[in-house]
Amino acid sequence: MSANVVRLICPNLKCRKILSVPDSARGKKVRCRGCGMRVQIPQKKEQVPVTPTQDEAAEG
Ligand SMILES: [Zn+2]
Repeated sequence: MSANVVRLICPNLKCRKILSVPDSARGKKVRCRGCGMRVQIPQKKEQVPVTPTQDEAAEG
């Protein structure tokens, strides 16, 4: 196990094939190898980009 792999189930109820796509495919669409349907790979949800928080906005 080296590269991160995203596993998701094909939304096609008649297919329901488990798709394994590389982590780099997030946000993209892949084609199910079972039915040929395009499946959207969800973005990461766990990690939230750390943004520098500024102090309270200066008063007008
Ligand atoms: Zn499918």
